[in-house]
Amino acid sequence: MTPQQLSYTQSDRLYLNITDRCTLDCIFCPKNRGIWMAGEYDLTLDHRPSVEEILDSLSHPEDYREVVFCGYGEPTLRLNVLIAVAREIKQRGGMVRVDTDGLANLVHKYDVLPELASCVDVISVSMHAQDAATYDRICLPGLPGSYEKMLEFLTLAPRYIKDVWATAIEGIEGVDIDACRKIAEGLGVTFIPRTLDCIL
Ligand code: SF4
Repeated sequence: MTPQQLSYTQSDRLYLNITDRCTLDCIFCPKNRGIWMAGEYDLTLDHRPSVEEILDSLSHPEDYREVVFCGYGEPTLRLNVLIAVAREIKQRGGMVRVDTDGLANLVHKYDVLPELASCVDVISVSMHAQDAATYDRICLPGLPGSYEKMLEFLTLAPRYIKDVWATAIEGIEGVDIDACRKIAEGLGVTFIPRTLDCIL
């Protein structure tokens, strides 16, 4: 495995690709369209990388604007690995952002936010939609109650992490970006509209 598959750069950010597994199965996901490339980088994983392998793929995290956990999978599914790597990045003086579906509390069955807060500077939660019906149609969640749990995570997150974002992708049929923005602003978090296939 080449280091580029575990970490890749875009502009002044370094991205970490620690899993290809997801809690969701979004109809617009690059994986569901046969795309495993992020720009020039092939994000195909042939095994679950260890903490050591991931750390070996990044030499100077402090040189980047931020190190972002973001690949073609949900990083909080590997919570222990994420936290171990994030703590090391913080020790080396780096900034850490986690891009997540916001379902970690549902999956792990406890509030993971205090642990994340110890090593994460920014958390970006994929809201995806303005209501559960639209979310279920476009994200095909594997766990019941996912939309409500994602919103609960977004509600709790600012108590632990100063910089919390909610995102939704513009142009997906049925997604009302203005309604998503209103929900995010009502929860006191920053709303960021995204463009399909563009790395944030
Ligand atoms: S959350 Fe992201 S990686 Fe996972 S299925 Fe949806 S679009 Fe794909």
